[in-house]
Amino acid sequence: MTIRLADTHAHLDLPEILPDQDAVLHRAREAGVDLIINVGIGLQNSRQVLATARQHPGLRATIGIHPHAAASLQEGDLEALTPLAADPLVVAIGEIGLDFYRRRSPEEIQKHWFRQQLEWAFGLKKIVVIHTREATAATLKILQDSRSQLRGGVMHCFGGSWQEARAFLDLGFYLSFAGPLTYPKAEALREVAQKVPLDRILLETDCPYLTPQPWRGKRNEPAYVVATARQMAEVRGLSLEEAARGTWENSLRAFGLKEKDILGNV
Ligand SMILES: [Zn+2]
Ligand SMILES: [Zn+2]
Repeated sequence: MTIRLADTHAHLDLPEILPDQDAVLHRAREAGVDLIINVGIGLQNSRQVLATARQHPGLRATIGIHPHAAASLQEGDLEALTPLAADPLVVAIGEIGLDFYRRRSPEEIQKHWFRQQLEWAFGLKKIVVIHTREATAATLKILQDSRSQLRGGVMHCFGGSWQEARAFLDLGFYLSFAGPLTYPKAEALREVAQKVPLDRILLETDCPYLTPQPWRGKRNEPAYVVATARQMAEVRGLSLEEAARGTWENSLRAFGLKEKDILGNV
């Protein structure tokens, strides 16, 4: 039985992947990864991820500014990106959020542009892909404040507690699990993954980062999402086929995609 997988969060246009992007996409296809969401992190990168999505079947894009780049944003920058959002290949605004771990942009500036990009997404009627690191309480507060306008979205690379998981689930979010689910010390995360409703779970690589076992230490790529799928299957007492099927269907639903549109242009 062949499996079909989705990598709901990849960065195919970063310098770590760009030089052999075609080979990376070929290996993804060989591994059954038929849908990849190519996630934007900056102004120029958002244009690039969409251009890449236009060139390859099975790819979709998100556009947005990562909290690391928040300090470089100026008024008018989001408006300049707005025409891109009209492309049906753009399935979400992201990744946006807060990162108080690396703090590459000041906290208040991150919060400002997180709110601005949420408003932007609401105006465009798009779901959001959220990055949060060491900033869960602040992220939740901002999302809860705009609860009435939220159309849902994805908490990417989820690594929080069950209490935090429940708060994001209550807001209508999907929780996306990445390579760390496979790490030996991630027992607490696997316990959380065991409790999340099956129809709210997504899988991702966040490549080129966060490579799952057994490839940890190497550059990550979408083909490796199978390792996280296998781990999720084990955690949930499912076969790999069942875990793949379930998360595939969730990915389509989360991003408003139809299977025939993804596979039709293969
Ligand atoms: Zn991220
Ligand atoms: Zn990312």
